[in-house]
Amino acid sequence: MDMKQKLEALHEEARKKIMESGNLDKLNEVRVAYLGKKGELTAILKSMKDVAPEDRPKVGQLVNETRSRIEGLLENHKKALADAKREAQLKAEVIDVTLPAKKARIGHRHPNTIALEEVERIFVGMGYEVVEGPEVEYQDYNFTKLNIPEDHPARDEQDTFFINKEICLRSQTSPVQARTMEQGKLPIRMIAPGRVFRSDEVDATHSPSFHQIEGLVIDKNITFADLKGTLEEFAKELFGPETKTKFRPHHFPFTEPSAEVDVSCFKCGGKGCRFCKGSGWIEILGCGMVHPNVLRMCGIDPEEYTGFAFGVGLERIALLKYEIDDMRLLYENDIRFLNQF
Ligand SMILES: [Zn+2]
Repeated sequence: MDMKQKLEALHEEARKKIMESGNLDKLNEVRVAYLGKKGELTAILKSMKDVAPEDRPKVGQLVNETRSRIEGLLENHKKALADAKREAQLKAEVIDVTLPAKKARIGHRHPNTIALEEVERIFVGMGYEVVEGPEVEYQDYNFTKLNIPEDHPARDEQDTFFINKEICLRSQTSPVQARTMEQGKLPIRMIAPGRVFRSDEVDATHSPSFHQIEGLVIDKNITFADLKGTLEEFAKELFGPETKTKFRPHHFPFTEPSAEVDVSCFKCGGKGCRFCKGSGWIEILGCGMVHPNVLRMCGIDPEEYTGFAFGVGLERIALLKYEIDDMRLLYENDIRFLNQF
């Protein structure tokens, strides 16, 4: 077989293989097999030394022609493969304009937010102002002005996150009350909702970060009767008109006298059930008459003005109202949980 026939046969063989290649990878294999460094055509070029010198230019030209013909075939088939692929894609991705559009999923309010808005609504209805303050707070406001002495256990590092000697993450929203009193605009009727921080381990009822809503009223002739009436009204609005309240004596450094408030169980009406652990009562908040020391430290004359304060955990309200048994659920952002509210 002379060189011309040999090249002709090679070309025909390559053409068949190219046409049989169903994808770009296969096509590339064919390219390598014929035109690559160790390919068939290259092998022929290497065998040129066996060709008589006078024939070499002619044979060389034939080899080059064959090469460019094979390259042309490869290029054409590559284009054909790409066209076929696009065609198939277009067929597969037909848009059916009659299908209903996907609904945009709009988020909705977190149970904490719903509970907060409910509490705010109740107090705003009673003429209270909603005031916010910094989450990073001077110790002076977080403790000292609230009559919490230097050696009080609440100042312990085990309870409070300290930034430095003077600054901490507020462990309660009470500093907002101190800041409001200092402004000296009396009377005061305010609630201060917000995030607070304590170095608690996470469990079903504790979290290092949670929310409080504190309330403060300062005016002339404010008595414990005003405090009781206000919180009774609050409990009835929040848990239903049948709700009863019970005040148990307690101690807080910033109020005197102080009390913890229980509400009658809104599940069993006070008879006792699993929800209230059989007692018929559920503890919801702490309160008291503002300590004269606190008034004095915030520039208010305790002889002229009196007041009351209370603090309630927002999560506690949300857990009670929606009968959630684990506080961690409120922070996990599990859509299956949140969708229920
Ligand atoms: Zn009960």
